[in-house]
Amino acid sequence: MENKQVKPESKKPGGFRFNPYWIYGILFLILMAMLFLPKKSGQSTNWKEVREMIIQGDVKKLVLVNDRNLQIYLNPAAIQQKRYKAVSKRDNYMGSAEPDFSFEIEKDYLNNEIQDLKKTFIERKLDPNGFILQYETQGDLFGNLFQWVFFIGIFLILYNLMSRKMGGGSGGGGANIFNIGRSKAQLFDKDTKVNKSFKDVAGLDEAKLEVMEIVDFLQNSKKYTDLGGKIPKGVLLVGPPGTGKTLLAKAVAGEANVPFFSLSGSDFVEMFVGVGASRVRDLFKQAKEKAPCIIFIDEIDAIGRARGKNSMQGSNDERENTLNQLLSEMDGFATDSGVIIMAATNRPDVLDAALLRPGRFDRQITIDRPDLSGREEIFRVHLTPLTKLSADVEPNKLAAQTPGFAGAEIANICNEAALIAARHNKKAVDMKDFQDAIDRVIGGLEKKNKIISPEEKAIVAYHESGHAIAGWFLEHADPLLKVSIVPRGVAALGYAQYLPKEQYLYRTEQLMDSMCMTLGGRIAEDIFFGKISTGAQNDLERITKLAYSMITIYGMNEKVGNVSFYDPQGEYGFQRPYSEKTAELIDSEVRALIQSAYDRTKLLLISKKSEIEIVASALLEKEILFKADLEILIGKRPCDPIVAEPKKKKRVPAIKKAKPAE
Ligand code: ADP
Ligand code: ZN
Repeated sequence: MENKQVKPESKKPGGFRFNPYWIYGILFLILMAMLFLPKKSGQSTNWKEVREMIIQGDVKKLVLVNDRNLQIYLNPAAIQQKRYKAVSKRDNYMGSAEPDFSFEIEKDYLNNEIQDLKKTFIERKLDPNGFILQYETQGDLFGNLFQWVFFIGIFLILYNLMSRKMGGGSGGGGANIFNIGRSKAQLFDKDTKVNKSFKDVAGLDEAKLEVMEIVDFLQNSKKYTDLGGKIPKGVLLVGPPGTGKTLLAKAVAGEANVPFFSLSGSDFVEMFVGVGASRVRDLFKQAKEKAPCIIFIDEIDAIGRARGKNSMQGSNDERENTLNQLLSEMDGFATDSGVIIMAATNRPDVLDAALLRPGRFDRQITIDRPDLSGREEIFRVHLTPLTKLSADVEPNKLAAQTPGFAGAEIANICNEAALIAARHNKKAVDMKDFQDAIDRVIGGLEKKNKIISPEEKAIVAYHESGHAIAGWFLEHADPLLKVSIVPRGVAALGYAQYLPKEQYLYRTEQLMDSMCMTLGGRIAEDIFFGKISTGAQNDLERITKLAYSMITIYGMNEKVGNVSFYDPQGEYGFQRPYSEKTAELIDSEVRALIQSAYDRTKLLLISKKSEIEIVASALLEKEILFKADLEILIGKRPCDPIVAEPKKKKRVPAIKKAKPAE
């Protein structure tokens, strides 16, 4: 693998570097030449000759252009004469729209001469109006220049559009057939300042503490290198999307006051061979010129995936070349060069081990979804720009209603709320707008006019009540936050939202209870309508996944035993690491597990039939029910021992995202 890193340079697209500015330059020169070289407008001559021509009666008209250029048009008949041979030859090519002669003359001088000529005409008893003198103004130099600039502009726009299409880039700025090998990194430096600082990043206290060190590295690198310490080259930010990884990296750049290169892992990947590697080279070249600086690579897993371990999957040569280039660039620069690479991923498990080795991304900072107090802080940050807030909007209430939301979703909610309020012509954004915004972010757009027949609506209501009641009476299920049957998005006709406990480890009973709760929807349909619908598809999918995980990953099945076939990197490929017999056993155990959950839930729900009925009819009437509504309808939850309000200021692990259950 190591020797793979040295790829022959010849893979670079196009042997010699073709700079697009050359083309622009050449075009410009050609245009200037056309503009300034004298226009061939007739043979040159002088007044004495012209005077003679006029007296001979050969001239049809004279045109004085821009008061200085006299153009002479001959009579067609006169052109045939021998002395105009040169002109007549030309006329055959050009047609006689062009003047036959021209020369520079001053207007006053010309006018005098014409007066003089007219006298001569009269003396010789000739018609003084035998020729015409016209004055014309033609586009002057600046007018011409303007036209040309306009023309060039249009041309360049077309050219750019075309080459962008050909470049096939994912719309990155400046994608161009000629600089396809250039890095697409977006650069923020003095001119396009990174205006983020640590105060824009809410929560994430530990992460901030860790990255502050990096700021110090960049500002006082000498302090560290003098003592022989090595400044880290790479920092990997690990966390789900939208939790503020980019924001944090930007804040580091903003605080350290250094340039910031931002790009995404997928920006390296192009269909042409060698482009990725050449972009990596270019990126590092630029970065070294701007050092000290920060390179931020989002979604590094797009290039950083483990290199082909199994032949079945087929290795992606182009991606591997890119990764190899990145590795060798990271090894290549000295630790004191002042370039620090920050990268983000939500799949650290799929990354190639070589990336995580010392001297590369040897620091990892985990960023999780914010907990209650974290969310409250993020709400505070994003509520500040909303200038007109009604008094009932409280960040802590909003935070309580958004378990599992990441910072990006919270930012989104605040924006949506303002839009919703504006749409209703309100003077200030109130709590109702935030409720709507939260619903919208969870479930997509509310489909006000999505037509649902009353029967369908009843089925949805009973389905959701089934989930809600099952969760209400199962000891280990997550507490309910709200149930809704407002149709949203493409598929979801309704959903129940839960408040997941803040925990990393789940016991078997908890997983089983959550499976039962997820089955509750279909079972309620079965009990009340005697038939089942497709509405449970998503529920069943989740149950199946959970059941297989319990047996093949968490070793929670007696017969299959304490084994785990966890394989995030696809190392096994299409080969199963177990025998056909085990496969059959797993399948039958999964089925048995789900069946037992089904039977248990059905027994429970049959005993709670009246409660389901109460909740379903309330849902049909109100469409959305909160936990408090349910408590009024069917009494407090019997087993609600852990009130999942985490104590303030105590750092707790982040919450698992509340997935809307269908
Ligand atoms: P990631 O890179 O982790 O996918 P981003 O950094 O792009 O997420 O976050 C997207 C947006 O979400 C940010 O621009 C910011 O508005 C908001 N956001 C996320 N986390 C936070 C936070 N901790 N504090 C304030 N805003 C946040
Ligand atoms: Zn469901």
